[in-house]
Amino acid sequence: MVAVLLGWNPGVGDTWPGYSRVVDELATAGVHRRAWPVGTGARPTPGTDAWLVLHGKTGSGLIGHGVVVSAPYLAAGPDLPYPPLSQLPGEACVDVDFDMLLPLGDQIPVDILAARAPLTDWAAAPVAGGCQPVPEEQSRAIRELWAECLPADEIDPVLPVPGTLPQDAMIRVGVNRYERNPYARRVCLAHHGTSCAACGFSFEAAYGPEGEGFIQVHHLVPAAQLGPGYELDPVGDLVPLCSNCHAMAHRRRIPYTVAELRAMRSRAGYISGSVVTQQELDAQADARRILGST
Ligand SMILES: [Zn+2]
Ligand SMILES: [Zn+2]
Repeated sequence: MVAVLLGWNPGVGDTWPGYSRVVDELATAGVHRRAWPVGTGARPTPGTDAWLVLHGKTGSGLIGHGVVVSAPYLAAGPDLPYPPLSQLPGEACVDVDFDMLLPLGDQIPVDILAARAPLTDWAAAPVAGGCQPVPEEQSRAIRELWAECLPADEIDPVLPVPGTLPQDAMIRVGVNRYERNPYARRVCLAHHGTSCAACGFSFEAAYGPEGEGFIQVHHLVPAAQLGPGYELDPVGDLVPLCSNCHAMAHRRRIPYTVAELRAMRSRAGYISGSVVTQQELDAQADARRILGST
């Protein structure tokens, strides 16, 4: 089984209190684990894609993606490690790591789903919890639709959108959630500035006011070295990189260091980058004012 639909009807029972808060927290945490009852039918195995399908009076459609991370298990309510949905006695659960959840109202409507993945019975996905297999040849169409319909500002050019690649491909991607933590990003940029640490590129210098403050943040500690006690040091562990240098850094499974990127550029004949000074930015701002373009 490659993928399953998980049905969810917020109007039937208080099945997912605080869903909106979870949507916000997910942007920082990167993942939200939840036990999900699978009914008596499908038995998804770990690694199965889980598509969350909304039903009921708040609307219908595809609203989230996760990955099944446990084998089905029987657990009574109080024993569940994560808050359960409504669960019948004796009903099996699986743990699901949700990596993308859309706000209520932003779901991809059922008519669009049905047009693109017609062999999937979107309306028949169980209404209050439960799980239904997706025909194997449809899972790619669902992934593609998911990638097209997500809001552009949620998409990090370096990080594949959760749900758009098969799980074994996602595991090989070296970008990690620390690069998407807004607080850590602010601290990093307050210290390092917003020019690329490898090549000196400044989006503001190159693109003007629209580029102000735009830069990606790269996590220097390889994912493999992150132990359970790891605490992020936003100044020591994060550096600003332009989109090109960031993509290059992640071309190797263990990312290239900033020094290695600089060495590559100098071997290739580029003069080592200099960071744009405040005076240079001020001079550009003056020039724009004099030319009357702002
Ligand atoms: Zn750069
Ligand atoms: Zn990175």
